[in-house]
Amino acid sequence: MIPVQGFEGAKVAVLGLGRSGLATARALRAGGAEAICWDDNPKARETAEGEGFLCADLLKQNAFDGITSLIVSPGIPHLYPTPNPVVAAALEAGVAVDNDIGLFFRSFANGGWEMFETMPKVVAVTGSNGKSTTSALIHHVLSEAGRRTQLAGNIGRGVLDLDPAEDGDVIVLELSSYQTDLARSLTPDVAVFTNLSPDHLDRHAGMGGYFAAKRRLFAEGGPDRAIVGVDEIEGRYMAGQLSEGPSDDRVMRISTERKLTGPGWNVFARKGFLSEYRKGRQAGSIDLRAIKGLPGAHNHQNACAAYAVCRALGLAPRVIEAGFASFGGLPHRSQIIAEAHGVTYVNDSKATNVDAAQKALAAFKKIRWICGGLEKEGGLGDLAESAGEVVKAYVIGREAANFAMQLKGVEAEVCTTMEQAVARAAAEAQEGDTVLLAPAAASFDQYDSFEKRGEDFVAQVQAATKKASGIN
Ligand code: ADP
Repeated sequence: MIPVQGFEGAKVAVLGLGRSGLATARALRAGGAEAICWDDNPKARETAEGEGFLCADLLKQNAFDGITSLIVSPGIPHLYPTPNPVVAAALEAGVAVDNDIGLFFRSFANGGWEMFETMPKVVAVTGSNGKSTTSALIHHVLSEAGRRTQLAGNIGRGVLDLDPAEDGDVIVLELSSYQTDLARSLTPDVAVFTNLSPDHLDRHAGMGGYFAAKRRLFAEGGPDRAIVGVDEIEGRYMAGQLSEGPSDDRVMRISTERKLTGPGWNVFARKGFLSEYRKGRQAGSIDLRAIKGLPGAHNHQNACAAYAVCRALGLAPRVIEAGFASFGGLPHRSQIIAEAHGVTYVNDSKATNVDAAQKALAAFKKIRWICGGLEKEGGLGDLAESAGEVVKAYVIGREAANFAMQLKGVEAEVCTTMEQAVARAAAEAQEGDTVLLAPAAASFDQYDSFEKRGEDFVAQVQAATKKASGIN
């Protein structure tokens, strides 16, 4: 645990008592602060009280008297579409609103670091898609290279749950836009922006707010190295703003759409090959086509970002290549879960938005596509245009018929349930086809989470392929 510094003897309110909220309360207590906790869910309050924390209704009059800060969990809206009433009360009372990420950055370094030979470093990864894969890949390559490293944030552990850094540690944090939006302190050594596409627009009041939330990681913290995906105009804009000129190699640009030329430090992937150029010279290259854990151009973008981070941390290209080769991929992200009768089954339940689903569709051929669920704001856009490799769609979700209607030009069958969709797709699949779950929608109309949806897909695939082989 990282004890929170700077609040000794102070009262700090904690709103939301999930995994990160409880870790925050513990870290505040370890740093000598008093945590005043609240969650609308009585069960969550019970757990906190069981650990000896005081729970108090923060909506009561004068609840913020004597309180220094309010620490808000990432799931709670602080501004849009409407602020949570407790956050609104804190703002009304003039109390600073922060989150666990802000507390982490102000508490991570401590006096003991003076004895270290190599200062610990923090790598923070943000972007619309690919954050988890990129973060996990960086962590994997560093571990394989024998470097001490810990992974936290939106993936894995809460940040305040990390072990205090030891000599030479590298902390890899995955940060969502909710987290970067609210943190009052954001000072990574290396920051990554993978890409930008519409997501969570209601929480950020549109694309501008969403981009601004992610941009804070670079604008507030001034990282030593900024690694920026430049395949969208927002990335090009930010890379331009952060650098003093084309040869300023504090900014590393990454792309999967074009060869990046110029005197700067660039990493790009084309036709399955990753190339690194620095000062106009090629410094490294990797054939990504053979790497099973990273299929498709979207994963090649993640590979470019992870490669750039590892280079910025001083790893040699061949060491990074060896790490890539043993990366198994993450569950629910373009994950091959079965191969039966010449048909490949791929679980990309994490493709909860249109962009992620388009990327998955581009990574495979002859696709029997299981899609549908709770549609995101902004609609399905040009999703149907990306379905060139789709033989047929099998649509799930409560609004399956409506979803199917929007897939113009794609043969689509309304299946509603996963069981039906997998059974139909498996029955119709020919040798060489890929049955791909890439919903382009959230899961909450039928499941608690995208993980549960992915697990159901795996279970249904097991049942369907067993049936086909006559095994009971
Ligand atoms: P995040 O943590 O940002 O949500 P993940 O690595 O969990 O990112 O991937 C989320 C979804 O987006 C998955 O469906 C995955 O296949 C897809 N994806 C992964 N990397 C990228 C990328 N670089 N660009 C677009 N989509 C991606």
